[in-house]
Amino acid sequence: MGSLNYYLNTMVTFAMMLIFSILFAIEIRYMQRKLERENNKLTEIANYDPLTKLLNRRSMNMHISRALEQAANQKSTFCLVLLDIDNFKKVNDTYGHDCGDEVLICVSEIVEHLVGDTGKVCRWGGEEILLLLHNDMNQAKDMAERVCRSIANNAVCYQDQKIQVTVTLGVAQYDGDVSVKDMLRQADERLYWGKKHGKNQVVCE
Ligand code: GH3
Ligand code: MG
Ligand code: MG
Repeated sequence: MGSLNYYLNTMVTFAMMLIFSILFAIEIRYMQRKLERENNKLTEIANYDPLTKLLNRRSMNMHISRALEQAANQKSTFCLVLLDIDNFKKVNDTYGHDCGDEVLICVSEIVEHLVGDTGKVCRWGGEEILLLLHNDMNQAKDMAERVCRSIANNAVCYQDQKIQVTVTLGVAQYDGDVSVKDMLRQADERLYWGKKHGKNQVVCE
């Protein structure tokens, strides 16, 4: 009788331990998944612009540093293309800020689609987008012109309205002897020239 009791007690204890272990393992797995989801969310917040879903400036700076290192090591090149939406303030003033946001989203989608895996695209600031292209100046110019044409030819639909937008782009190439700051300044100066001379164009020199 005593040994039967002992046997039953052992079995019950064992069964309870087993059940608790399984429940504990399930709980740990659930917490792991939750943590993974939260980590993914944090990565997204750290690297992407919430409105356009493009990379943010911080993340782009890392990609540019990598491109610079690679270009220096492999004696290769890359280009930076600075894009600015033309007369964007007027879009906001005429159709409202939400419409301006929609224009930003549509323009970003077009650029991202065209660039694909030939480079990286980020929201550099307000209505400015920066492209990092693993190309030489000729190829970068082609890409910038495709972006420029595509945006001019695809009106943005907002509610019942079609909004025509254009962009101006300045291109700068890494030539082995410039800093990223210099490249950005050059792209910006070319963009500025394009703005002063009619907008809706690509400026490479
Ligand atoms: P330009 O052709 O010379 O570039 O003129 P512009 O009107 O595009 O440039 P300006 O610098 O005068 O105006 C930029 C406007 O972009 C002003 C600002 O309110 C707007 N803007 C910046 N970020 C956002 C945004 O996230 N959403 C919206 N809707 N507007 C934005
Ligand atoms: Mg601007
Ligand atoms: Mg603008």
